[in-house]
Amino acid sequence: MAEQVQVGNVTIMAVPDTYVSGDRSFMFPDVGEEAWRGWEHYFTSRGHLRMNIGTFVVRSEGRTILVDTGLGEVQREGYPQGRLLDNLRGEGVTPEAVDLVVITHLHLDHVGWNTVEREGRRVPTFPNARYVIVREEWDAFTSDEELRGRNYMQECVLPLEGTGQLDLVEGTHAVTRDLTLVPAPGHTPAHACVAIVSGGERAMIIGDLAHHPLQLTETAWAAWADMDKRQAAETRERMAQRMEQDGGLAIGGHFPAPGFGRLVRVGGRRVWQAL
Ligand SMILES: [Zn+2]
Repeated sequence: MAEQVQVGNVTIMAVPDTYVSGDRSFMFPDVGEEAWRGWEHYFTSRGHLRMNIGTFVVRSEGRTILVDTGLGEVQREGYPQGRLLDNLRGEGVTPEAVDLVVITHLHLDHVGWNTVEREGRRVPTFPNARYVIVREEWDAFTSDEELRGRNYMQECVLPLEGTGQLDLVEGTHAVTRDLTLVPAPGHTPAHACVAIVSGGERAMIIGDLAHHPLQLTETAWAAWADMDKRQAAETRERMAQRMEQDGGLAIGGHFPAPGFGRLVRVGGRRVWQAL
């Protein structure tokens, strides 16, 4: 059984695609060895960091909403193959049952299962879903230059245009009454978090605002994939303050699975604490 949490009338279920593990200095190239002191409990036995590649099934107003779609069925160099569809089926979620796919940003590990190959063509994996992407993000990733450097855009993102299932939305966008996209730029030009507010309770699916929980303490730590490191750090600090103040859940798809936690003060420091 996948783990899930209830936020007012909304349920959020964590469904993993796969995970990767790698060297700390690869994930956080600007962070020296010294700075890791006290965080060793996050290391694997080989001293690596393990990064979950997780998605979330959110049920709001009778709709089934998938937030991000993992790495996908195509095994790419340096990455494992994703298992999201099997994992969704295991939870009773068929591709046909997904009403909305909400994409936090257009990096490979968030759009992989947008499409599958059928008879030599890439078609939307979720045939009945609207796919929600921030227009500014779409524009940034569909420039000629970006498309040349990102094969996965041709495979996993552009086919959505042809089937009429794509909804390009403004940065702040109400997906349902309980669920809103919130601009959190820096990691990518128009990266979004997904805010959930229902029955006086709150949660935030943070996308790649942080790749690791300790970045919500050390908000200046840039991940290798942050496209604008300074803006990403400013956004991370601002959003971390907001989540700490409102006391809601801070939910990270790259955090140790299932990724549900809260920001609390421990010894004067803001720390992400798993539920
Ligand atoms: Zn990511």
